[in-house]
Amino acid sequence: MTIAVTKVRVEDKLYQNRYLVDSGRPHIIVRPHEKPSANLLALTYVCPAKCYELNDRGQVEITADGCMECGTCRILCEKGGDIEWNYPRGGFGVLFKFG
Ligand code: SF4
Repeated sequence: MTIAVTKVRVEDKLYQNRYLVDSGRPHIIVRPHEKPSANLLALTYVCPAKCYELNDRGQVEITADGCMECGTCRILCEKGGDIEWNYPRGGFGVLFKFG
């Protein structure tokens, strides 16, 4: 008996998700800072949706569109005050598609 194995990349699976933007009401906010803390800087590497980026002044910015609400940034940076984190309002945010 032969078993067929199909390899699927994580990026391809994530592409199936949809996101409903709550325009003008981001559910995550990066607090103003001159220089990012080590944890805040780490978000530019660890966020699976790549929502965090460095701007040309070396500060961390977020574009919350595409956030999967995994909570990684919340665990790393909310307690230290680098970010404010809330769930999106009902009806907005990520729509997971499985399969
Ligand atoms: S909750 Fe997860 S996916 Fe959303 S911005 Fe934070 S680390 Fe990225």
